Amino acid sequence: MTDFEAQLRAVSLRVTRPRLAVLTALRDHPHVDTETVIALVRAEHPTVSHQTIYDVLRALTDTGLVRRIQPAGATARYESRVGDNHHHVVCRTCGAIADVECAVGHTPCLTASDDHGFVIDQAEVVYWGTCPDCAATSRTSH
Ligand SMILES: [Zn+2]
Ligand SMILES: [Zn+2]
Repeated sequence: MTDFEAQLRAVSLRVTRPRLAVLTALRDHPHVDTETVIALVRAEHPTVSHQTIYDVLRALTDTGLVRRIQPAGATARYESRVGDNHHHVVCRTCGAIADVECAVGHTPCLTASDDHGFVIDQAEVVYWGTCPDCAATSRTSH
């Protein structure tokens, strides 16, 4: 049994080819949008329909195997790196996304300075800026 099969079984999802294909695509290409997931999966499995891939993404996100990231004003992206509460840096110009480890150790952001009585289970931090490629392009064009 592969890791992906074990992960699917752990959340009571049946092991299907489209589910394995989506998990594989996201492992190899983190932070891609829905259209890219569809293109990646269909490159390997041309018979898998768009609707199936939408359904798979929803099921995997609902069960926590896949994390959906939606920076303000950007299209939703998906990744299979879940459970470590890592953060993201997003390029304002081209939308490139990279992982950022928690700033101070293991999920410290879950300890809010004032939780207002809420039970907090996730902290989402998005760092905005300009990626190296876009910074280089704007330097050369000026
Ligand atoms: Zn960029
Ligand atoms: Zn990430």
